Amino acid sequence: MKDFSKADWVDPSLNWTPLPVSPLPERVIIDYATKCNLRCPMCPVWGSEEEGAIDAVTGIMPPAAVMKVLDQLAPARPMVQPSLYGEPLLIPDLRQRIRDMKERGMAVAMNTNGLTLTEDLANFFVESGVDSVFFSIDAVEPATYHEIRGVDQLPKVEAAVHRMLKVRGDRDTPRVGVSLTLQDANRDQEAAFVAKWSGVVDCVRVGLILEDGVIKGIDVPAERTPCPALYKTMPIHNDGTVTICCLDGFRTSVVGNVAETSVEEVWQGEEFAKVRYYHETGQYDKVPFCKDCQGWAQYDYQEEVRDGLLIRKSAEFTYYNRIDRLKNWQPQLRGGHELGLVGTEMAPKAEPAAV
Ligand code: SF4
Ligand code: SF4
Repeated sequence: MKDFSKADWVDPSLNWTPLPVSPLPERVIIDYATKCNLRCPMCPVWGSEEEGAIDAVTGIMPPAAVMKVLDQLAPARPMVQPSLYGEPLLIPDLRQRIRDMKERGMAVAMNTNGLTLTEDLANFFVESGVDSVFFSIDAVEPATYHEIRGVDQLPKVEAAVHRMLKVRGDRDTPRVGVSLTLQDANRDQEAAFVAKWSGVVDCVRVGLILEDGVIKGIDVPAERTPCPALYKTMPIHNDGTVTICCLDGFRTSVVGNVAETSVEEVWQGEEFAKVRYYHETGQYDKVPFCKDCQGWAQYDYQEEVRDGLLIRKSAEFTYYNRIDRLKNWQPQLRGGHELGLVGTEMAPKAEPAAV
């Protein structure tokens, strides 16, 4: 880890002792293809009314650029999510891209709208060892799905979840989950959504919506602490740009570009170090993108065991995990989340996924 404690942007009176930073990130979000078959109004990118701004970030990462990034990341065997503001099933030559990641020992975790998941592709996910597939559904009522996603496709995505489950069967992977992003349109359906899918899929995720740069309805501790995302996650956009945070779809908080330098140089670089310094010294107003964000509180989980489920709740997310399927939530997939049940009889008998 480079030592920036004497840099000219450091105020010596604050006696800053930098927190440790791993040589490479443990979770990487790579926007292989910023393209989507939906235009969800809630989407930070595709929900924008500024077509020019969307056009400016749309694009495909060239395979050679992806391979360079994967080769540099390989020693860390991180979890890779192959989409940021794109639908991952639309990545050109998706199967080869997945093989590229699995051959390098990475855990592959996808968040998809599920609309183009065929049985053949579901089979490929099983055979290639894809570690996790989460379907964004957001509703139990078709009219609500339409309001949130802009299309009448609730039965289609629900069928895709069941297709994935059927093809996967009793095998460990992929871990299959569904998610609901809580907002005014579906607030009354949260309980029904959890009841409908708990025990069916391996995990149900409920999260709060990001609106106008704030996470709506989040209740955070009084004392702010440095955001764990800065130490765990690297978001890489399709042109190699790295931003502070995955919430920055329009790339306003750039800290480097892996196409121009390297993953390690950006992750360990001065721009990222400055952001961490401002967080660690409580100068949040010096980081405009983080200044008003409450996402820093999302990593502190309380756990409860109920009805065969391990329920993990933070200020932003609640996960309803089937205890009998926890084995597939292996360490590489946790993205830095600590599992409090480790050491108890509830703990998954976790082994790293075969690679
Ligand atoms: S499916 Fe995802 S990436 Fe596509 S518009 Fe909706 S929220 Fe955005
Ligand atoms: S504070 Fe918010 S914007 Fe900043 S890195 Fe954390 S989650 Fe992202």
